[in-house]
Amino acid sequence: AAPARDRLRIAIQKKGRLADPARALLTACGLSWRESRDKLFCFGESLPVDLLLVRDDDIPGLIADGVCDLGIVGFNELDEQAKARRQIGMSDAYQSLRALPFGDCRLMLGIPEEWEWSGVDMLQGKRIATSYPAILTAWLAERGIKADVVELSGSVEIAPKLGTADLIADLVSSGATLRANQLKPVEILMESTAVLAGPVDELTDSRAGLMAMLLRRLDGINASREQKLVMFSAADEALPSIGSLLPAGAELIRLPGTAQPARLQAMCPSGLSWQQLEEIERAGASQLMVLAVEKSLA
Ligand code: ATP
Ligand code: MG
Repeated sequence: AAPARDRLRIAIQKKGRLADPARALLTACGLSWRESRDKLFCFGESLPVDLLLVRDDDIPGLIADGVCDLGIVGFNELDEQAKARRQIGMSDAYQSLRALPFGDCRLMLGIPEEWEWSGVDMLQGKRIATSYPAILTAWLAERGIKADVVELSGSVEIAPKLGTADLIADLVSSGATLRANQLKPVEILMESTAVLAGPVDELTDSRAGLMAMLLRRLDGINASREQKLVMFSAADEALPSIGSLLPAGAELIRLPGTAQPARLQAMCPSGLSWQQLEEIERAGASQLMVLAVEKSLA
């Protein structure tokens, strides 16, 4: 068995799309670090949770090898490497523990603008360039398509122009990169977001408690993201109509005391528009205030 460790180690992207949001999320979870000079390793100060700053491609492997306990990585990257392992008969070594609210993108087929898309059958015998060969291979196999998968590590979108492939499968968020290369998106292979990834086997030493605490804080942030606390004053007779104007699932609570109009608060599972707020005001509420929920422990 691996030696017991008492510090948790999290791998995040050093530079790139996920680097800043990953760090911000972990900071919101109450973590802070003493920056080391080379900044590949950040020593945790507020809690025994250290950061390793790496290329996103390395994150699944670092978890598989037990070098890191957790990682923040695109689901696309995690699933590509998981499928590649399976395709050569290896067992699963990591899993997605939580989807995170950033890094949204789609893995899509992009075809030359002048082609008319008539469905997946037109992919038979074509050459498809991608950085996600395992996902693409599995996707084609599921549909009984025989095509050549051309693996490229970067600049996939120029492959059709260079003649190294007929079409591509690449990550798309706005579609601007495809359009700039005279390609158009036609089919979604995968919807992806950043995820918190961890090992398949549970930790048994003191890192298990640290991981549980981190997950609970993360869930607290996620659960409160959309929540709003609405506060207002209103006479008791106005409450039924005000209650019907609050978002579904809102919990209305009258604060203790005898003052009239009474002071009330409602925990709402979603936000309120200005228009909703004005309707509530017309129904008899005054001194309205909408507060964002920053943290919560259920
Ligand atoms: P690294 O140097 O760490 O290997 P990279 O070039 O592989 O960096 P980025 O371009 O920073 O990675 O993208 C990281 C992740 O961001 C992707 O794996 C994907 O999950 C997500 N992402 C979101 N939108 C896009 C997009 N439009 N194009 C590419 N990736 C995107
Ligand atoms: Mg990468």
